[in-house]
Amino acid sequence: MLKIRNLESGYGKLRVLKHISMHIKHGEIVAIIGANGAGKTTLLSTIAGLIKAQSGEIVFADRDLGTVTPHQLPHLGCVMVPEGRQVFAPLTVEENLILGGRCRARDGAAATASRLEHQYELFPVLRQRRHQYAGTLSGGEQQMLAMGRALMAQPSLIMLDEPSTGLAPLIVQEIFKVIAAMRDEGKTVLLVEQNAKAALTIADRGYVLETGKVILQGAATDLLANRDVQRAYLGREKIE
Ligand code: ATP
Repeated sequence: MLKIRNLESGYGKLRVLKHISMHIKHGEIVAIIGANGAGKTTLLSTIAGLIKAQSGEIVFADRDLGTVTPHQLPHLGCVMVPEGRQVFAPLTVEENLILGGRCRARDGAAATASRLEHQYELFPVLRQRRHQYAGTLSGGEQQMLAMGRALMAQPSLIMLDEPSTGLAPLIVQEIFKVIAAMRDEGKTVLLVEQNAKAALTIADRGYVLETGKVILQGAATDLLANRDVQRAYLGREKIE
């Protein structure tokens, strides 16, 4: 579904990503883990076209993304939920959701209503808060809204940037359950996380980024069992 070859990207002359190659197959959850500053957000922003790649290739659903603008991407079936949620604070929950489905507006009002209903089933708290301004939601509710808003576009690939940031453990569990449910519904998920344990626990495969390079990749279960990953990212110093 998504193929990245020899990608280099960064800011001005600064090269953050160095020769990144990776792929995501249909229906997988792929986790990208790495420390602060490893280049995870830069990777997602480059896929989304918000940062122009310095070199290399990104192919999504057989289209070279080098020729696609960020606003065209949802029409192709790829959406990103940015770090920090970035909901539209002065709009209500429902208005945020409806805006997320704008690229599907041609499907008609009945299709929009049915998609809204689906988000409310997935995130019951959003139904309770449908007329509340998004800026007044808690962090966890805003994360759910940002995910629901992205799902309104009916993407085949959803890219999530640090969905667990700043959330209490119980809320993180809830968010990760919904991410697993997205895969069950046939979505493909690219999940960038500092919470390596939570991410690798639900992912099928993972990549470890360190200073802009992929230093490890493999099945999520293998990465969870890898001693270097445990020491560096899972906070386990002593391994029996
Ligand atoms: P975090 O988990 O802290 O969000 P990250 O792995 O997502 O980290 P990035 O945000 O991609 O890392 O940052 C990678 C590097 O790029 C860092 O050294 C950062 O300082 C630099 N960087 C990020 N954004 C910019 C920018 N707009 N201009 C210049 N340098 C930037």
